[in-house]
Amino acid sequence: MRITLLAGGIGAARFLRGLLADSPDAEVTVIGNTGDDLTLYGLQVSPDLDTVMYTLGGGNDEAKGWGRAEETWNALAEIQAYDATASWFGLGDRDIGTHLVRTAMLDDGHTLSEVTATLTARWNLPVRLVPMTDHRVETHVTVEDPDAPEGRRRLHFQEYWVRHHASLPVIDIEVEGIAESTPAPGVLEAISEADLILLPPSNPVVSIGPILAVPGVRDAVLASPAPVVGLSPIVGGAPVRGMADKLLPAIGVDTSAAGVALHFGARSSGGLLDAWLVDERDADAVPRIEEAGIAARAVPLMMTDVPAVAEMARVALDLADAVRR
Ligand code: GDP
Ligand code: CA
Repeated sequence: MRITLLAGGIGAARFLRGLLADSPDAEVTVIGNTGDDLTLYGLQVSPDLDTVMYTLGGGNDEAKGWGRAEETWNALAEIQAYDATASWFGLGDRDIGTHLVRTAMLDDGHTLSEVTATLTARWNLPVRLVPMTDHRVETHVTVEDPDAPEGRRRLHFQEYWVRHHASLPVIDIEVEGIAESTPAPGVLEAISEADLILLPPSNPVVSIGPILAVPGVRDAVLASPAPVVGLSPIVGGAPVRGMADKLLPAIGVDTSAAGVALHFGARSSGGLLDAWLVDERDADAVPRIEEAGIAARAVPLMMTDVPAVAEMARVALDLADAVRR
Protein backbone atom coordinates (compact mmCIF):
# COMPACT_ATOMS: atom_id res chain seq x y z
CA MET A 1 0.00 0.00 0.00
CA ARG A 2 1.30 3.43 -0.96
CA ILE A 3 0.58 6.09 1.63
CA THR A 4 1.37 9.77 1.09
CA LEU A 5 1.36 12.33 3.92
CA LEU A 6 1.42 16.12 3.89
CA ALA A 7 3.60 16.78 6.90
CA GLY A 8 4.76 19.50 9.25
CA GLY A 9 7.22 18.83 12.06
CA ILE A 10 6.57 17.34 15.48
CA GLY A 11 2.91 16.33 15.05
CA ALA A 12 3.67 14.65 11.73
CA ALA A 13 6.83 12.94 12.96
CA ARG A 14 5.12 11.44 16.00
CA PHE A 15 2.21 10.27 13.88
CA LEU A 16 4.55 8.68 11.35
CA ARG A 17 6.21 6.55 14.00
CA GLY A 18 2.84 5.08 14.94
CA LEU A 19 1.79 4.65 11.32
CA LEU A 20 4.96 2.66 10.59
CA ALA A 21 4.41 0.54 13.70
CA ASP A 22 0.90 -0.26 12.48
CA SER A 23 1.81 -0.71 8.79
CA PRO A 24 5.48 -1.66 8.58
CA ASP A 25 5.12 -2.77 4.95
CA ALA A 26 3.49 0.41 3.66
CA GLU A 27 5.42 2.41 1.09
CA VAL A 28 5.28 5.85 2.72
CA THR A 29 6.08 9.16 1.05
CA VAL A 30 6.25 12.22 3.28
CA ILE A 31 5.80 15.57 1.57
CA GLY A 32 7.44 17.97 4.00
CA ASN A 33 6.61 21.60 4.66
CA THR A 34 9.44 23.99 3.79
CA GLY A 35 7.61 27.22 4.63
CA ASP A 36 9.41 27.19 7.99
CA ASP A 37 12.83 27.20 6.29
CA LEU A 38 15.09 30.04 7.29
CA THR A 39 18.63 31.33 6.94
CA LEU A 40 20.58 31.78 10.18
CA TYR A 41 24.18 32.97 10.20
CA GLY A 42 24.33 31.95 6.56
CA LEU A 43 23.06 28.43 7.34
CA GLN A 44 20.08 26.95 5.51
CA VAL A 45 17.78 25.46 8.13
CA SER A 46 14.74 23.27 7.30
CA PRO A 47 13.09 22.72 10.69
CA ASP A 48 10.18 20.51 9.62
CA LEU A 49 12.20 18.27 7.30
CA ASP A 50 14.79 17.81 10.04
CA THR A 51 12.22 17.00 12.72
CA VAL A 52 10.80 14.21 10.56
CA MET A 53 14.30 13.00 9.63
CA TYR A 54 15.69 12.97 13.15
CA THR A 55 12.54 11.41 14.64
CA LEU A 56 12.25 8.58 12.12
CA GLY A 57 16.02 8.13 12.07
CA GLY A 58 16.13 7.72 15.84
CA GLY A 59 18.36 10.78 16.28
CA ASN A 60 15.93 13.28 17.75
CA ASP A 61 15.65 14.75 21.22
CA GLU A 62 12.64 12.84 22.53
CA ALA A 63 11.82 15.25 25.35
CA LYS A 64 11.85 18.42 23.25
CA GLY A 65 10.45 16.76 20.14
CA TRP A 66 12.86 18.66 17.86
CA GLY A 67 16.62 18.85 17.45
CA ARG A 68 19.27 16.19 17.98
CA ALA A 69 19.61 13.73 20.82
CA GLU A 70 22.63 14.19 23.10
CA GLU A 71 22.97 17.72 21.81
CA THR A 72 25.50 20.28 23.04
CA TRP A 73 25.15 24.04 22.62
CA ASN A 74 28.69 25.39 22.43
CA ALA A 75 28.36 27.22 19.13
CA LEU A 76 25.18 28.99 20.25
CA ALA A 77 26.84 30.00 23.54
CA GLU A 78 29.73 31.49 21.58
CA ILE A 79 27.31 33.37 19.30
CA GLN A 80 25.52 34.73 22.35
CA ALA A 81 28.81 35.73 24.01
CA TYR A 82 29.52 38.13 21.13
CA ASP A 83 26.16 39.81 21.70
CA ALA A 84 26.33 41.04 18.13
CA THR A 85 23.42 39.25 16.47
CA ALA A 86 20.02 37.84 17.36
CA SER A 87 20.22 34.31 18.77
CA TRP A 88 16.67 33.18 19.53
CA PHE A 89 16.69 30.00 17.43
CA GLY A 90 17.90 26.83 19.14
CA LEU A 91 20.82 25.63 17.02
CA GLY A 92 22.72 22.80 18.66
CA ASP A 93 26.22 21.75 17.69
CA ARG A 94 25.19 18.41 16.17
CA ASP A 95 22.26 20.02 14.39
CA ILE A 96 24.63 22.61 12.89
CA GLY A 97 26.44 19.74 11.16
CA THR A 98 23.23 18.99 9.24
CA HIS A 99 22.79 22.64 8.26
CA LEU A 100 26.42 22.95 7.14
CA VAL A 101 25.97 20.00 4.77
CA ARG A 102 22.66 21.35 3.49
CA THR A 103 24.11 24.83 2.94
CA ALA A 104 27.25 23.54 1.22
CA MET A 105 25.25 21.32 -1.13
CA LEU A 106 22.79 24.10 -2.00
CA ASP A 107 25.72 26.45 -2.62
CA ASP A 108 27.18 23.83 -4.95
CA GLY A 109 23.97 23.96 -7.00
CA HIS A 110 22.13 20.92 -5.69
CA THR A 111 18.39 21.17 -5.20
CA LEU A 112 16.77 20.85 -1.78
CA SER A 113 15.33 17.49 -2.93
CA GLU A 114 18.82 16.23 -3.71
CA VAL A 115 20.13 17.54 -0.41
CA THR A 116 17.26 15.91 1.48
CA ALA A 117 17.90 12.56 -0.24
CA THR A 118 21.56 12.78 0.79
CA LEU A 119 20.78 13.75 4.38
CA THR A 120 18.11 11.08 4.85
CA ALA A 121 20.35 8.36 3.39
CA ARG A 122 22.54 8.64 6.49
CA TRP A 123 19.52 8.00 8.72
CA ASN A 124 18.17 5.00 6.78
CA LEU A 125 14.68 6.44 6.89
CA PRO A 126 11.82 3.95 6.58
CA VAL A 127 9.97 6.53 4.42
CA ARG A 128 10.76 8.67 1.40
CA LEU A 129 10.98 12.28 2.59
CA VAL A 130 10.59 14.93 -0.11
CA PRO A 131 10.34 18.68 0.33
CA MET A 132 7.12 20.19 -1.03
CA THR A 133 9.16 22.36 -3.40
CA ASP A 134 12.76 23.02 -4.37
CA HIS A 135 11.99 26.74 -4.64
CA ARG A 136 12.79 28.98 -1.74
CA VAL A 137 9.56 29.84 0.07
CA GLU A 138 9.16 31.36 3.54
CA THR A 139 6.11 31.83 5.69
CA HIS A 140 5.93 35.40 6.97
CA VAL A 141 3.56 36.86 9.51
CA THR A 142 2.35 40.46 9.70
CA VAL A 143 1.76 41.45 13.31
CA GLU A 144 0.49 44.49 15.15
CA ASP A 145 3.35 46.57 16.53
CA PRO A 146 2.51 50.01 17.89
CA ASP A 147 6.20 51.04 17.65
CA ALA A 148 6.52 50.19 13.95
CA PRO A 149 5.62 52.50 11.06
CA GLU A 150 1.90 52.09 10.24
CA GLY A 151 1.53 50.04 13.42
CA ARG A 152 2.47 46.76 11.81
CA ARG A 153 5.55 44.67 11.18
CA ARG A 154 6.35 41.67 9.05
CA LEU A 155 8.57 38.90 10.34
CA HIS A 156 9.56 35.34 9.52
CA PHE A 157 7.11 32.82 10.97
CA GLN A 158 9.91 31.23 13.01
CA GLU A 159 10.77 34.57 14.59
CA TYR A 160 7.10 35.10 15.47
CA TRP A 161 6.78 31.53 16.80
CA VAL A 162 10.10 30.88 18.52
CA ARG A 163 11.31 34.34 19.52
CA HIS A 164 7.93 35.87 20.39
CA HIS A 165 6.11 32.65 21.37
CA ALA A 166 3.22 33.61 19.09
CA SER A 167 2.35 36.41 21.48
CA LEU A 168 1.99 39.23 18.90
CA PRO A 169 -1.47 39.87 17.40
CA VAL A 170 -1.50 38.47 13.84
CA ILE A 171 -2.91 40.53 10.99
CA ASP A 172 -1.89 38.34 8.07
CA ILE A 173 0.03 35.17 7.17
CA GLU A 174 1.70 34.86 3.78
CA VAL A 175 3.93 32.22 2.25
CA GLU A 176 6.46 34.30 0.32
CA GLY A 177 7.48 32.89 -3.03
CA ILE A 178 4.72 30.28 -3.09
CA ALA A 179 3.01 31.56 -6.26
CA GLU A 180 6.24 31.17 -8.24
CA SER A 181 7.08 27.79 -6.72
CA THR A 182 6.57 24.40 -8.34
CA PRO A 183 6.21 21.01 -6.65
CA ALA A 184 9.49 19.19 -6.09
CA PRO A 185 10.16 16.11 -8.24
CA GLY A 186 7.96 13.22 -7.16
CA VAL A 187 5.45 15.29 -5.19
CA LEU A 188 2.58 15.20 -7.69
CA GLU A 189 3.25 11.53 -8.52
CA ALA A 190 3.23 10.60 -4.82
CA ILE A 191 -0.21 12.19 -4.57
CA SER A 192 -1.74 10.86 -7.78
CA GLU A 193 -0.35 7.32 -7.35
CA ALA A 194 -1.14 6.96 -3.64
CA ASP A 195 -3.59 4.39 -2.31
CA LEU A 196 -4.19 6.67 0.66
CA ILE A 197 -3.47 10.32 1.44
CA LEU A 198 -3.14 11.21 5.11
CA LEU A 199 -3.17 14.60 6.79
CA PRO A 200 -1.47 13.90 10.14
CA PRO A 201 -2.15 16.09 13.18
CA SER A 202 -0.03 18.95 11.81
CA ASN A 203 -0.63 22.65 12.00
CA PRO A 204 -3.35 23.36 9.39
CA VAL A 205 -2.21 26.95 8.80
CA VAL A 206 1.59 26.90 8.67
CA SER A 207 2.38 23.22 8.02
CA ILE A 208 -0.33 21.71 5.79
CA GLY A 209 -1.46 25.10 4.39
CA PRO A 210 1.83 25.92 2.64
CA ILE A 211 2.08 22.43 1.08
CA LEU A 212 -1.43 22.74 -0.38
CA ALA A 213 -0.53 26.23 -1.62
CA VAL A 214 2.30 25.03 -3.87
CA PRO A 215 0.68 25.43 -7.30
CA GLY A 216 -0.62 22.06 -8.48
CA VAL A 217 -0.61 20.28 -5.12
CA ARG A 218 -4.18 21.00 -4.04
CA ASP A 219 -5.47 20.09 -7.50
CA ALA A 220 -3.48 16.85 -7.42
CA VAL A 221 -5.06 15.91 -4.08
CA LEU A 222 -8.53 16.77 -5.40
CA ALA A 223 -7.94 14.68 -8.53
CA SER A 224 -6.36 11.70 -6.77
CA PRO A 225 -8.49 8.55 -6.64
CA ALA A 226 -7.07 7.84 -3.15
CA PRO A 227 -9.19 8.56 -0.09
CA VAL A 228 -8.01 11.55 1.95
CA VAL A 229 -8.16 11.03 5.71
CA GLY A 230 -7.09 13.60 8.30
CA LEU A 231 -6.49 13.57 12.04
CA SER A 232 -7.37 16.60 14.10
CA PRO A 233 -4.48 18.55 15.66
CA ILE A 234 -7.07 20.33 17.80
CA VAL A 235 -8.36 18.45 20.82
CA GLY A 236 -10.99 19.86 23.15
CA GLY A 237 -10.79 23.29 21.51
CA ALA A 238 -7.03 23.70 21.89
CA PRO A 239 -3.88 22.52 20.17
CA VAL A 240 -2.34 19.62 22.06
CA ARG A 241 1.10 21.17 21.87
CA GLY A 242 2.13 24.44 20.37
CA MET A 243 0.15 27.52 19.60
CA ALA A 244 -1.97 26.72 16.56
CA ASP A 245 -4.86 28.49 18.30
CA LYS A 246 -3.04 31.76 17.59
CA LEU A 247 -3.11 31.20 13.85
CA LEU A 248 -6.48 29.61 13.10
CA PRO A 249 -8.44 32.76 14.05
CA ALA A 250 -6.10 34.78 11.81
CA ILE A 251 -7.40 32.82 8.81
CA GLY A 252 -10.98 32.91 10.07
CA VAL A 253 -11.13 29.31 11.29
CA ASP A 254 -12.68 28.22 14.54
CA THR A 255 -10.17 26.54 16.91
CA SER A 256 -12.00 23.24 17.11
CA ALA A 257 -11.81 19.78 15.61
CA ALA A 258 -14.88 20.56 13.48
CA GLY A 259 -13.56 24.00 12.54
CA VAL A 260 -10.40 22.51 11.03
CA ALA A 261 -12.37 19.76 9.25
CA LEU A 262 -14.70 22.31 7.65
CA HIS A 263 -11.70 24.47 6.74
CA PHE A 264 -10.23 21.58 4.72
CA GLY A 265 -13.73 20.85 3.43
CA ALA A 266 -15.59 17.79 2.17
CA ARG A 267 -14.52 16.19 -1.08
CA SER A 268 -18.12 15.91 -2.11
CA SER A 269 -18.32 19.71 -2.16
CA GLY A 270 -14.96 20.62 -3.66
CA GLY A 271 -12.87 20.25 -0.49
CA LEU A 272 -10.13 17.84 0.44
CA LEU A 273 -11.43 15.41 3.04
CA ASP A 274 -13.17 12.08 2.74
CA ALA A 275 -12.78 11.40 6.44
CA TRP A 276 -11.62 13.08 9.66
CA LEU A 277 -10.70 11.68 13.05
CA VAL A 278 -11.42 13.70 16.15
CA ASP A 279 -10.46 12.97 19.75
CA GLU A 280 -12.99 11.19 21.95
CA ARG A 281 -13.41 14.47 23.86
CA ASP A 282 -14.77 16.00 20.66
CA ALA A 283 -17.28 13.21 19.96
CA ASP A 284 -20.09 15.77 19.94
CA ALA A 285 -18.52 17.33 16.81
CA VAL A 286 -18.99 14.14 14.76
CA PRO A 287 -22.58 14.80 13.56
CA ARG A 288 -21.68 18.31 12.39
CA ILE A 289 -18.69 17.03 10.44
CA GLU A 290 -20.70 14.19 8.90
CA GLU A 291 -23.50 16.59 7.91
CA ALA A 292 -20.87 18.50 5.94
CA GLY A 293 -20.14 15.29 3.99
CA ILE A 294 -17.00 14.12 5.80
CA ALA A 295 -17.01 10.68 7.44
CA ALA A 296 -15.96 11.16 11.07
CA ARG A 297 -14.99 9.01 14.04
CA ALA A 298 -14.09 9.93 17.62
CA VAL A 299 -11.14 7.99 19.06
CA PRO A 300 -8.27 8.81 21.46
CA LEU A 301 -5.95 11.14 19.54
CA MET A 302 -3.29 11.83 22.16
CA MET A 303 0.08 10.74 20.83
CA THR A 304 1.38 9.61 24.20
CA ASP A 305 3.40 6.62 23.01
CA VAL A 306 3.95 4.62 19.83
CA PRO A 307 1.27 1.96 20.51
CA ALA A 308 -1.34 4.69 21.09
CA VAL A 309 -0.40 6.35 17.81
CA ALA A 310 -0.37 2.99 15.99
CA GLU A 311 -3.97 2.54 17.14
CA MET A 312 -4.88 6.00 15.76
CA ALA A 313 -3.26 5.03 12.47
CA ARG A 314 -5.15 1.75 12.36
CA VAL A 315 -8.47 3.55 12.76
CA ALA A 316 -7.46 6.04 10.03
CA LEU A 317 -6.72 3.13 7.68
CA ASP A 318 -10.01 1.41 8.55
CA LEU A 319 -11.90 4.60 7.89
CA ALA A 320 -10.06 4.99 4.58
CA ASP A 321 -11.29 1.53 3.54
CA ALA A 322 -14.82 2.48 4.53
CA VAL A 323 -14.84 5.61 2.36
CA ARG A 324 -12.75 4.26 -0.55
CA ARG A 325 -14.66 4.79 -3.75
P1 GDP B 1 5.46 21.61 14.00
O1 GDP B 1 5.80 21.94 12.57
O2 GDP B 1 6.62 21.07 14.78
O3 GDP B 1 4.69 22.69 14.69
O4 GDP B 1 4.54 20.34 13.92
P2 GDP B 1 3.25 19.99 13.11
O5 GDP B 1 2.74 21.10 12.28
O6 GDP B 1 3.46 18.67 12.46
O7 GDP B 1 2.28 19.66 14.31
C1 GDP B 1 1.87 20.60 15.23
C2 GDP B 1 0.47 20.23 15.64
O8 GDP B 1 0.47 18.93 16.23
C3 GDP B 1 -0.07 21.16 16.68
O9 GDP B 1 -1.14 21.89 16.10
C4 GDP B 1 -0.57 20.25 17.80
O10 GDP B 1 -1.86 20.58 18.20
C5 GDP B 1 -0.57 18.89 17.16
N1 GDP B 1 -0.28 17.83 18.11
C6 GDP B 1 0.84 17.68 18.86
N2 GDP B 1 0.74 16.60 19.66
C7 GDP B 1 -0.46 16.04 19.40
C8 GDP B 1 -1.17 14.89 19.91
O11 GDP B 1 -0.70 14.16 20.79
N3 GDP B 1 -2.42 14.64 19.39
C9 GDP B 1 -2.98 15.42 18.42
N4 GDP B 1 -4.19 15.11 17.96
N5 GDP B 1 -2.35 16.51 17.93
C10 GDP B 1 -1.11 16.82 18.41
CA1 CA C 1 6.88 23.57 11.60
